[in-house]
Amino acid sequence: MTVLRAALLSFVASVSIASAAECPRKDALGTSRVMTVDPQAFPRVGLKSFPQTLPLADKEVALTFDDGPFPATTTKVLAALADECVLATFFLIGRNAEANPAIVKRIAAAGHSIGHHTWSHQPLDKIGQQRALEEIDRGIAADEKALHGVATSVPSTPFFRFPGFASTPALLSSLQSRGIAVFGADLWASDWNPMTPEQQLNLIIERLDYEGNGIILFHDTKAQTAKMLPAFLQYLRRNGYKVVHLVGPRPIKSSSNDR
Ligand SMILES: [Zn+2]
Repeated sequence: MTVLRAALLSFVASVSIASAAECPRKDALGTSRVMTVDPQAFPRVGLKSFPQTLPLADKEVALTFDDGPFPATTTKVLAALADECVLATFFLIGRNAEANPAIVKRIAAAGHSIGHHTWSHQPLDKIGQQRALEEIDRGIAADEKALHGVATSVPSTPFFRFPGFASTPALLSSLQSRGIAVFGADLWASDWNPMTPEQQLNLIIERLDYEGNGIILFHDTKAQTAKMLPAFLQYLRRNGYKVVHLVGPRPIKSSSNDR
């Protein structure tokens, strides 16, 4: 038993070290593991909005960034993540993606996951079902067009987050029936409130230490967030936190070509 257990552990270790080995800085935080999020198993996650969340272990965090791409700050966020070899998920606003396709491609080329956050960030619970569905589809299409050149409403990574977490039961059902996972968050930086980078850093550290793990929501459009991110990632490394990279299930189409 012990031999088998040791063999299994070394296998797990070699898998997780693979990404760290590619990191030029040996003392970087790195991405500790990849979690595939299957929307069938996890249609809605994030304890701020829903009763369930992802099965993250103690001290495991998943970093998510909303509302970009926004060149001035998204590029700084990408640089901070790259410096620590950390992978995150970006929930893009479609019209921002349409305006900045090169940054969308950069986010994807760096290995981050791309989720969707509507076309123009309307409160979907207040604009009627039809317009809300259009906002969702147009956003996905713009993100996919920026990513792959094809404006499809079938997302290559089936992750969606409602602007302001403002969902309705009908929209939640619609997304679930399309196999799109809805992300809330387990904790957030409240970076929509103006504060200094130091205040921002202290606030998110305090919340994370209290919660112990979770899906964290930031905004890559905020200068205070971009500025404090390097210090936050160092804090994670020094305090034993691990970053989990969330990815979608493989697209059905490509699975037959993978072997
Ligand atoms: Zn947003």
